[in-house]
Amino acid sequence: MTLSINISNCPCHCPGCHSSYLWQDIGEPLTPMVLEQFIQKYEDEITCICFMGGDAESKAVNDLAVYLHREHPQYKVGWYSGRTHVPTSICKSNFDYIKVGPYIKHLGCLKDMTTNQRLYKRVSGDEFSDITSRFWRKKD
Ligand code: SF4
Repeated sequence: MTLSINISNCPCHCPGCHSSYLWQDIGEPLTPMVLEQFIQKYEDEITCICFMGGDAESKAVNDLAVYLHREHPQYKVGWYSGRTHVPTSICKSNFDYIKVGPYIKHLGCLKDMTTNQRLYKRVSGDEFSDITSRFWRKKD
């Protein structure tokens, strides 16, 4: 099971955003200590921790991924970005999964075959494989 953590202050402002409350700078700063509190609460249930957003401070997301892999190597680490490309402040090899692409309403979300969004799984080092099609809803 994945623990998904929403990060506010989203700068992407996708038209038709499904979570526009995340455009505001709300909530508490996401620090290693806050991550530890989440882990204490859910450690028996989770195998992966995923950062949802954080494009305003992608370097900080990268640093949290480094922290998680160092302190909790048993967990996979994912990042859902609303940007089209992974920013240079991110070292891709710090993540096991990376999703890129803004939400474009008429193209749909990751579950739709028409989606512009892409989800990549790390194969080794900096090498990733596109696994988006695994999420597509099957047509009846
Ligand atoms: S990246 Fe996500 S939260 Fe941000 S505007 Fe786009 S859909 Fe909304």
